[in-house]
Amino acid sequence: MKSKIRQGNETAVTLIEVGPRDGLQSSDAFIDTKDKITLIQRLAECGFSQIEASAFVHPKWIPALADHRELMTHLLADENQKNYFARTALSVLAPNERGFENAIACGCQNIALVVSASDTHNQKNLNSSIEQTLEGYARILSHAREKGLTLRVYLSCVFDCPYEGTLPLGTIVELVRRLEALGANEVALGDTIGAAVPNDVQKVLKALRDVVPVEKLACHFHDTRGLGVANALCAYDLGVRIFDASLGGLGGCPYAPGASGNVASEDLVYAFERSGVSTGVSLTALAQTSLWFESISKRKLPSKVFQSQKGGLQTIPPSQKDA
Ligand code: MG
Repeated sequence: MKSKIRQGNETAVTLIEVGPRDGLQSSDAFIDTKDKITLIQRLAECGFSQIEASAFVHPKWIPALADHRELMTHLLADENQKNYFARTALSVLAPNERGFENAIACGCQNIALVVSASDTHNQKNLNSSIEQTLEGYARILSHAREKGLTLRVYLSCVFDCPYEGTLPLGTIVELVRRLEALGANEVALGDTIGAAVPNDVQKVLKALRDVVPVEKLACHFHDTRGLGVANALCAYDLGVRIFDASLGGLGGCPYAPGASGNVASEDLVYAFERSGVSTGVSLTALAQTSLWFESISKRKLPSKVFQSQKGGLQTIPPSQKDA
């Protein structure tokens, strides 16, 4: 996927802020379009090089993102004016051919697809089998290549499925191999129900590195059991440099009962920066954005780092431990 400011050295990470899409999609309360615009502008000012802004999905399925067309039309005009988004690429999720066509018609250049490693989860999430989904995606990916677009594909349930349990490693490896062969520029490995521990991450990544370049892999961890940060640090040690995160830990999956929020942007920024790994994202600006979002949405964000800052603890600067 296009990045306007990919980090310039091999130790830095790229964080993709997915809060406006993944974080809001299962929300009962509708966030006004003007507030979504402010949220995304503020996230760009925090320093994210990529923000997933919405999803081109029928409002019947995701009412919280029913304003995707209006929102993206406004934001992309803003992007073209190089106002807030001179350094930030905006992307959208479009999990079928119709959504993809609508996203392109709206001017979206960065589009993400999603397929599950579990057939049952895929049926519930997309109402089709894995094979049917991949058939449609093969057409989308070939169309995207012709248009010079770059596409990310999320692979859900990589570490556990709420319906089928842990899937065989061979299934995961084969799906990632097929997605790369179909032309996906990036495959984001989703821990949909936040089940993984670092040992699982190690097993999966070691197997995947044998079939696809690690630069094409991103990790999308959930913090359901408090292990999102530990898993990200483990994936970093194995060469992954692209991580998804969401403001304050917003999010979950409507088709994965019990799945709580995505790993929080604040928690990943803190963990990486304190370890001496550059993220390009300002923790102070993030905390101010979370504070503002809590006030307009009347909800408490779960990020531990954010809550500690809100409680008055000082932001701890990047580590000088090796100095
Ligand atoms: Mg998620």
